[in-house]
Amino acid sequence: MTTRIIDKARSEGRTVLTEIESKEVLQKAGISIIDTKLATSREEAISISRKLGFPVVLKIASPDIVHKSDAGGVRLGLKTARQVGKAYDDIMQTIRQKYPQARLQGVAVQKMARPGVEVIIGMSRDAQFGPVLMFGLGGILVEVLKDVSFRIVPLAKRDAAEMVREIRGYPLLEGYRGQEAVDVAYLEELLIKVSNFVEQNPELKELDLNPVFAYSDGAVAVDARIMLEEA
Ligand code: ADP
Ligand code: MG
Repeated sequence: MTTRIIDKARSEGRTVLTEIESKEVLQKAGISIIDTKLATSREEAISISRKLGFPVVLKIASPDIVHKSDAGGVRLGLKTARQVGKAYDDIMQTIRQKYPQARLQGVAVQKMARPGVEVIIGMSRDAQFGPVLMFGLGGILVEVLKDVSFRIVPLAKRDAAEMVREIRGYPLLEGYRGQEAVDVAYLEELLIKVSNFVEQNPELKELDLNPVFAYSDGAVAVDARIMLEEA
């Protein structure tokens, strides 16, 4: 499966897997992702939304648009078929206008995940150390404070436990001011799964699960991006 998706991207001269392709590959590896389907028309977006159950999220699906919200390609919390139809048209129109050259596959339809603590898991390759995993809290905490931890792949259980605990924001995961504590053991397992996945797929250049919503029971990645090494 991984090979088929990677081969398809390569045959199109791409080193970027779309969100849908990335999620499919990750799901096969047992990594928890929010159920996501490609819609190539307004009608299909509506019928998929009905099957998934409202509220849903629509996002532009294009190998040429990496930062979907910056591009105006994300609509959250859509509660009715009517809202989904309108969001589909809005997204396609906005993107066609702003990025006339972009190859558009359609729109990714997914369930709106319940709120959780946003964390990120990333992989990049270091010239000396090879693949390195990164863990941090999502949103402004990672962007402004660079509050992240790193470990070299493959991760041992102990590495995963340390990675989660050494970020400065760790108290937020333990349940700060009456907030629910998140399932830290689940996050550790997730890091191990990502490490195994990276180890088994040397063609991957970068991986981003940004964000993962962490809960008191489990966690789910709502966005994913995979970059391949140049062929
Ligand atoms: P990008 O990073 O390409 O701009 P994302 O897919 O990460 O786009 O979406 C932007 C933001 O929207 C996310 O950081 C997250 O807060 C929210 N979001 C995305 N998908 C979902 C979802 N399925 N359920 C709930 N919130 C979501
Ligand atoms: Mg994202």
